[in-house]
Amino acid sequence: MEKEGTSQNHTHIIVFPFPIQGHINPILQFAKRLISKGIQVTLLTTNSTIKSMQPNFSTSIKIDIISEPDPFLPPSAAAIDVYIDHFKAALPSSLTTVIEKNHSLGNCTKLLVYDSVMPWCLGTARELGLEGAPFITLSCTFTTIFNHVFEGKLKVPLQEPTVLLPGTGIPRLGLHDMPSFISNPTLYASLLKILVEQVSNFQQLKWIFCNSFDKLEEEVVNWITSQWPFKNVGPTIPSMYLDKRMNNDKDYGLSLFQPNSESCMKWLDSKEIGSVIYISFGSLATLVEEQMEEIALALKKSNYYFLWVVRESEINKLPQNFVQDTATKGLLVNWCPQLEVLNHKGVACFMTHCGWNSTLEALSLGVPMVAMPQWTDQPTNAKFIVDVWKVGIRARIDHEKGIVTREEIEMCIREVMEGERGNEMRRISLKWKKLAKEAVDDNGSSDKNIEKFVAQLISS
Ligand code: UDP
Repeated sequence: MEKEGTSQNHTHIIVFPFPIQGHINPILQFAKRLISKGIQVTLLTTNSTIKSMQPNFSTSIKIDIISEPDPFLPPSAAAIDVYIDHFKAALPSSLTTVIEKNHSLGNCTKLLVYDSVMPWCLGTARELGLEGAPFITLSCTFTTIFNHVFEGKLKVPLQEPTVLLPGTGIPRLGLHDMPSFISNPTLYASLLKILVEQVSNFQQLKWIFCNSFDKLEEEVVNWITSQWPFKNVGPTIPSMYLDKRMNNDKDYGLSLFQPNSESCMKWLDSKEIGSVIYISFGSLATLVEEQMEEIALALKKSNYYFLWVVRESEINKLPQNFVQDTATKGLLVNWCPQLEVLNHKGVACFMTHCGWNSTLEALSLGVPMVAMPQWTDQPTNAKFIVDVWKVGIRARIDHEKGIVTREEIEMCIREVMEGERGNEMRRISLKWKKLAKEAVDDNGSSDKNIEKFVAQLISS
C-alpha cells in the first residue's frame, strides 16, 4: 500500500493551476497522487484561493503564493486575460522564490506542472532550469478538436453544419455538439484564442497530463498518444470515493465555496434509495431567469425529491414562492459536497451542465445524467454522455425560445427516473464506475502512467 509523503529522494515539483474551482481541484488531486509516490509538491496559487479553500489544508502539500492582479478581480472566464497577463509578469519571481526555498531544504525542484491554458509557462520554467508539463483539465476529445483548429484542419467559423475529424475516433459532431468557442466564436473570442494556443507547444513537451482515463476515450486516446507524449492520469477523484486506500483524502476534496454539507447529507439520509434528483450547473455557468423558471417548474411537476445547488448569485432568478411551495420535496443549497452527494444511495439522477469534472464524477460514481450543457466544452461532453457512454439523456433547447422548456426537462427526468432507458443507463453506469476505479487502482492505466512518469522524473 502507498504511504503518503514518503520522500524518495527530495525530488520536488511545483503545480500551478488557473485559480478556478474546476481547474484547481483536479490538479491538486494529481499532486496528491504524486505525493503518495514519493514526490514533494508545492501548490503555487493566489492568496484569495488559499483563503477560500474548504477545508483548509493540513497535509503534506506545500503552498506558496503568487500575487493576484491589482485592482483585484475574481478569477473568471471574463477576467482570464487580466489574470494571464498578470501571471506572466509575476511567475518568474514566484518560481524563483519556491525553487530557492526548496533548495535550502535540500530539495531539487525539477518540474513545473502548469495549467494548459497558460502554455507560456513552459518558457518561464525552462529559463529557470526546470522542465515544464501542462495539465489539461478537460477531455482528450476537447484537446483534439482544438488541435485541429490550431493546425487549420478545422476552420472557425465552421464551414459545414457537421464536422468529422477523420482518424481521431471522435464521432461526427453537429453544431450543437461543438465547444461553444467554435459554434459561437465571436462571443468567446479571447477564450478561443487561449484554447487554440494551449496546443501550440505540444511538440516540445516530454509529458502532457490529462484528467481522463484511457478506456473512457479509447479511440481518441489512441490518436492523441500517437501525436504527443499524452498521459491520462484520471479520474482525479479523491481515492476514498474510488475505494483505493490512501491517507488524508478528506483534505483534498477541495472546494472554493463553503458547502452546506451537514444539511445536504442529513436531508439525503432521510430519503429512500434512488429517489432523489441532484441538480447543479457548476461554479461558473449563469442561467437566464426564464431557464431557471422552467427547471423549477419541471421539478415541481415531476414531484420527485430534488437537491438543487443554486449559487448565491443565481438565487434571485427563482420563481416567487418556489422554495416554500416545494419545501416538502426539495432542498436548495448554495453549494454542496458534490462527490458525497453523487456517492449517496438516495441520488438516482444528476441534472448537470456537463462540466468535465462533474461528468467524470458522475461516470466514476455511476450516476445517470440529464445533460443540460451551457457553454465551453459542455456540449461536446453531453454528446459523449448520450451517444458514446450512453449514461444520459440530453435536454434539447427549444430554438424558438432559446431555452430548454419545462416539458422537455420533465420528460428527461422521467426517462432517467422511471423509463426503460433509465434502467439501461443505470446498468451501463456501473460499467463506467468499474472502469474508472480500475484506471486509478494499482497497475491501472492512469496509475501506470503516473508510476512511469515518477520514475523518469526521479532519475532525471
Ligand atoms: N461542485 C461542488 N459542489 C457543488 C457544485 C459543484 O463541489 O455544489 C464541484 C464539482 O464536484 C466539480 C466542480 O465543482 O468538481 C465543478 O467543476 P466542473 O468542471 O463540473 O464545472 P465548472 O464549475 O468548471 O463549470
